Amino acid sequence: MEYCSGFWMNLDFLVVGGGIGGTILAELLGRGGKKVVVLEKTIAPPNWVRPEILWQATVKLLFSLIPKEIWEEDALLPLGGINLRDGRGKIRFVSPELFQKIQVERWAADANRTRERLLNLRAFELRRGVEVIALLKEKNRTVGVRTRHVVTGQESEFLAPWTIGDDGPHSLVRQACGLEMETRLFPLDFLCSGFSWPKSFEKATTQVWLSVGGSHSGILGLLAAPLPQGRGASVVLVRPEIFETKNLLEDTWERFCASDSALKEVVQERHFPSDFVRVRRSWGHATRYGGEGVILMGDAAHPLSPAGGQGANMSVADARALAEIALHNPSRLLEEYERRRRAANERSLRFTRVAAWLLDLPDWCLPTSAFLSALHWASRYPSLSGPLIRYVSTAFEEKAPTPY
Ligand SMILES: Cc1cc2nc3c(=O)[nH]c(=O)nc-3n(C[C@H](O)[C@H](O)[C@H](O)COP(=O)(O)OP(=O)(O)OC[C@H]3O[C@@H](n4cnc5c(N)ncnc54)[C@H](O)[C@@H]3O)c2cc1C
Repeated sequence: MEYCSGFWMNLDFLVVGGGIGGTILAELLGRGGKKVVVLEKTIAPPNWVRPEILWQATVKLLFSLIPKEIWEEDALLPLGGINLRDGRGKIRFVSPELFQKIQVERWAADANRTRERLLNLRAFELRRGVEVIALLKEKNRTVGVRTRHVVTGQESEFLAPWTIGDDGPHSLVRQACGLEMETRLFPLDFLCSGFSWPKSFEKATTQVWLSVGGSHSGILGLLAAPLPQGRGASVVLVRPEIFETKNLLEDTWERFCASDSALKEVVQERHFPSDFVRVRRSWGHATRYGGEGVILMGDAAHPLSPAGGQGANMSVADARALAEIALHNPSRLLEEYERRRRAANERSLRFTRVAAWLLDLPDWCLPTSAFLSALHWASRYPSLSGPLIRYVSTAFEEKAPTPY
């Protein structure tokens, strides 16, 4: 990269945002001989942790960039089964044997450590603490970005033929280009926290507690996922309305925690909700993935809820498709990318769409007891749950073979 007449130039790609998708794209392009800069506004990883499941296609790509043993040191853990607890006791909802039989690999990721490892890759240049504040345009074409350093306040300008927006659900790149996206707020909030994986819990097994009070009690459940180095990440699923009444919130939380003594081991002495990080998610699908000189990927193009564990996997699949096209068929970058990724991303968004629809139904339409009975029943018939899990684990992948 050269500094000339007030601009950083001689670049092929600017990537706005150093999320999982943006960093992988930058590394793949860099290894293919392109000059790439990643502009990331944060100077350090977030100080809170959340569970994230990565499926086999994603993990295979991660292992091609950094050896598996290094990932396993602190960022990725191979998962066994999934246990479900609902007040009637514990059931093995999905066994490790079933996962093995249907050949579905699943890994629990520490999202912060995964990102840090990717940001330290070397085939691209990283500018950290640099926030993109505007796009630079020539007529209708995006030709670069204006940035501000988050500590010094210094402003700079970067020029490149392509600007890639991987800047998350509230993407500045998307808004500055006028790329339309209708968003809806997901009807649940996610309260995240980290904890030490209790010795009494099965190793590498995801634990899910469903609230016997049901979807309309305010707290739907808690998911606890194991992480490397004896750590764990949990997320409580909460209806946002419950925050409006303090007493209701406290009562519901106490009742939920009292429903199973094992929950205490996850929650420990943490106070609810102040010791948790509350995440709200909007979801939608941009009507176009880019314009002249600009492309959107990951959450910037299709933000969604954690339902089905799709978001990070979609972002990585976007990165892979973009890199392949940029290196083999660059004259049709946007068209080919849109053609390859839109249907797969729409498939992944269905989990959020259906979950949002179900959560909006009145309780009499889908009584909690019927829902829990259906889960118990499904756990006994792997021939039914097997295909569903396979579908979830591959929904974000493209179905048509890639020519490269
Ligand atoms: C509770 C929870 C659980 C989840 N579970 C799963 C799961 O199990 N499986 C799964 O696949 N997905 C899961 N997700 C979704 C997943 O985390 C996201 O979809 C994924 O991180 C998107 O990656 P990304 O690279 O597209 O964007 P992001 O990770 O959002 O990265 C965007 C980056 O851009 C930076 N940025 C933003 N604006 C600017 C700017 N103006 N200038 C410079 N930098 C900027 C941000 O700092 C950030 O680093 C979960 C999400 C949550 C909240």
